[in-house]
Amino acid sequence: MTFANLQLIEPLQRAVATEGYTTPTPIQQQAIPHVLDGRDLLGLAQTGTGKTAAFALPILQRLAASGRRPHGDRAIAVLVLTPTRELAAQIGDGFGAYGRHLGYKHAVIFGGVGQNAQERAIRGGLDILVATPGRLLDLVQQRIVHLSKIEIFVLDEADRMLDMGFIHDVRRVISHLPRDRQTLFFSATMPPEAKKLADAILRNPATVAVAPVSSTAERVEQGVLFVEKNDKRPVLAALLETDTSITRALVFTQMKHTANRVAEYLQKRGIEADAIHGNKSQNARERALARFKAGQSRVLVATDIAARGIDIDEVSHVINYELPNVPETYVHRIGRTARAGKSGIAISLCGAEERQYLRDIERLIRQRVPAMDATALIEKARTLHATDAKTIHQQAQPRASQARQAAGESGAPRRASSGTPQPRGRRRRWRRP
Ligand code: AMP
Repeated sequence: MTFANLQLIEPLQRAVATEGYTTPTPIQQQAIPHVLDGRDLLGLAQTGTGKTAAFALPILQRLAASGRRPHGDRAIAVLVLTPTRELAAQIGDGFGAYGRHLGYKHAVIFGGVGQNAQERAIRGGLDILVATPGRLLDLVQQRIVHLSKIEIFVLDEADRMLDMGFIHDVRRVISHLPRDRQTLFFSATMPPEAKKLADAILRNPATVAVAPVSSTAERVEQGVLFVEKNDKRPVLAALLETDTSITRALVFTQMKHTANRVAEYLQKRGIEADAIHGNKSQNARERALARFKAGQSRVLVATDIAARGIDIDEVSHVINYELPNVPETYVHRIGRTARAGKSGIAISLCGAEERQYLRDIERLIRQRVPAMDATALIEKARTLHATDAKTIHQQAQPRASQARQAAGESGAPRRASSGTPQPRGRRRRWRRP
C-alpha cells in the first residue's frame, strides 16, 4: 500500500515523500478513502498512530477538488478543534507540511498567549483554522472568527476534551457550525459521554479503529518498581544515573508542584531536566520542549495535560513517577514511547498507596506489569542521598561498560532487539541480573 494507491493527488504525494513517509499507517489507510468520499467519520485512534495526516491529507485534497483558491478572503472552510495548545500547534505544523504545495493558509489559535497575532492571522484570510475551545469561543464572541461557512469540522481527541471538562465549550462551538458539513470525530477511547457526543454530531459515519487502547500497551516493554513514596526521588535519580540506555525520558507526575520538585531534584544531581505543566508560561513550555527535542535536556517532567499529544520522536523511556488514578491515562502516557510503530520502555514507580491504581491498569491492558528488582536501586539511592551533589555529578557519567553492568544490576528493562512488536509470550522483556 502506498499513498498513490490512496488516490492522493500529486502535490500531496510529494509532500508526504518530503516528510519521509513511504507507507500509509493503518489509520491513514482506513480513514483517507472515507474522508475523500465526503463521509462523516468516527475514528478510534490515538495520537502517535499517524492520525493527523489521516485527516489533514484528505481534507486538503477535498479543498483542492472543490476548486477553492487558496486564501482569497473567503470564510474559513475547515475547523479542527483539539484540547491542548501543543496538539493544536502540532496539527497546524501537519497542515503546513502536508499542504506545502497547495498554498492553503492555516492558523492556530489557543489561549494563554496574547490574541493580537492570532487576530491578524485570521483577518488576513484563512482556509483552515486549528483551535482549542476556549480561545475559539472568545474570538467567535468578539466576531473575529465566523464559523457559519465551515465545510469540514474535525473534533480531535474527543475523550480527552471531555476529561478536561470542555464539553460545554465543544457544544457551544458546534452550535455555531452549519448543519450541512462533513464531521470527523477522533477519540482514543469511547466512554459513554464520548459516544453520546459522537451520536449527536455525526451523520451516518464510517467507523475506523486502529490500535485499541490496550494494544498500544503491548508494544511497550513495561516494568514496575515498588518503592516507598519518600524514596521516589532518589530512586529516580539512581535509575537515570545507572541506566545509560535512558537517553530521553518523559517523566509523569500527577501534580504541577511535584513536576517542579522532581525536575529541581534531578538538576541538583547534575541530570539535565525541565518541567512543563499548565502553570508555566507558553514561552517556558516551548523552551523546555525545544531543549528536550534537541537533546539538550535528558528528562522532561510533565503533568498529563501538558504532555498530552506532544509529538517527540525517540522518547526512549516513559517513567511514571506517580501512577495515574485513571487507567486510560497510563496507556496515553506509555504511548509517548511507542510512536508510529516503534516500541519503547515504560517504568512505573509504585508506592504502597498506589497499588490499587496498578491493579486497575493491569485490568485495562489485560496484562501484568512485571515487577523489577528495586533492591540495588534503593541501595544506590540511599548512598546517593548521603553523598554531596558534586560527587554524584561525577558518578553520573560512568564508562559505557560500567554503565551496562550497572544497568543490568538495576534490573532496568531493555528495549526489545527488534523495533517491531513481537508476539506476546515469546517476547523478551528484559534481562534479569
Ligand atoms: P500523529 O498520530 O499524527 O501525531 O503522528 C505520529 C507521528 O507519526 C508523527 O511524528 C508523524 O510525523 C508520523 N507519521 C505520520 N504518518 C506517517 C507515515 N505514513 N509514515 C511514517 N511516519 C508517519
